Amino acid sequence: MNRGASLHIRKYEMKRATKFGPTERTTLKRLPKRAFYERKIIYNILDEGFICHVGFVDTHHPVVIPTSYGRIGEMLYIHGSASSRMLRSLAAGIPVCVTVTLVDGLVLARSIFHHSMNYRSVMIFGTANVVGDEKEKLHALRSFSEHVLPGRWADVREPNKVELKQTLVLRIPLKEASAKIRTGAPVDEESDYNLRVWAGELPLRIVAGTPIQDPRSEFEVPIPSYLNNIMARFRA
Ligand SMILES: Cc1cc2nc3c(=O)[nH]c(=O)nc-3n(C[C@H](O)[C@H](O)[C@H](O)COP(=O)(O)OP(=O)(O)OC[C@H]3O[C@@H](n4cnc5c(N)ncnc54)[C@H](O)[C@@H]3O)c2cc1C
Repeated sequence: MNRGASLHIRKYEMKRATKFGPTERTTLKRLPKRAFYERKIIYNILDEGFICHVGFVDTHHPVVIPTSYGRIGEMLYIHGSASSRMLRSLAAGIPVCVTVTLVDGLVLARSIFHHSMNYRSVMIFGTANVVGDEKEKLHALRSFSEHVLPGRWADVREPNKVELKQTLVLRIPLKEASAKIRTGAPVDEESDYNLRVWAGELPLRIVAGTPIQDPRSEFEVPIPSYLNNIMARFRA
C-alpha cells in the first residue's frame, strides 16, 4: 500500500474513533443542526449527568426506568438488585435505548409557541450484557460511586460477597449514540420582536444544600474533603 493511501486510512480511522456513526436511527431529522456525534461531547454529557432513563419493551409494553449509571471508556454500566425487572429483562439481550438529559435553562420567547429549554441530551441504542467477572463488577460499581461522588468509595466499606451476589451489573457498549444540544436565546417570529414582553433565558443548574449528618452517627466525623469538593461544584 502506498504512503498516501495508508495516511488516508489512518486519518479515516482517527475520524471514526472520535465520532459515533451517525446511523440511520441516530440521524436527527428534527432540527439536525443541534446534532452532535463527537465522542468527547457525548462522554462529557454522560459524565456530567447523574441519572439516565432506560427504555425497553417488557413483553408487550414499553417501559422507561430512571436509574444511576457509570461510564468506563466505551462502556456504560447500570446496576441494581439481581431481582430487578429492568435488569433481568435487559440481561436477556433485548434492544435498549438509554437517554441522559441535562437541563441548562428555560427559554422564554415572545410567543408561547416558541418557548423552549436549553439542554444537552444523549441517546444511546444497543443491547446490554451481564458483567460476570467479579473484578469488572467491582470496577463498575466503583465507577458508579466515583461518577456521583468522587472519593467516597475509598472512604467506606466495600461490598461483601453477599452484597455482590445480590447486585446485577450490566454493561452497554457505546456504539450507537447521538447528542442534541440547544443553547442561546429564543428564536421568535420576526413579526413578534416588537412585542413588549420579557424574553430571554433563565439559566438553571443543580445547587447543593447544607449536609445533614445522619442522627444515628456514633462519631463526630468532619465533613470529608470530597463532600466539600462536590459542594463547591454545586455551590449557589
Ligand atoms: C429538556 C428537553 C426538552 C425538550 N422539549 C421538547 C418539547 O417540548 N417538544 C418536542 O417536540 N421536543 C422536545 N425536546 C426534543 C426531543 O428530545 C426530540 O429531539 C424531539 O421531540 C424530536 O423527536 P423525534 O423523535 O422527532 O426526533 P428525530 O430527529 O426523528 O430522532 C432521530 C434520532 O435523533 C436522535 N435524537 C433525537 N432527539 C434527541 C435528543 N433529545 N437527544 C439526543 N439524541 C436525539 C436520536 O438518535 C433519534 O433516534 C426536548 C428535549 C430536551 C432534552
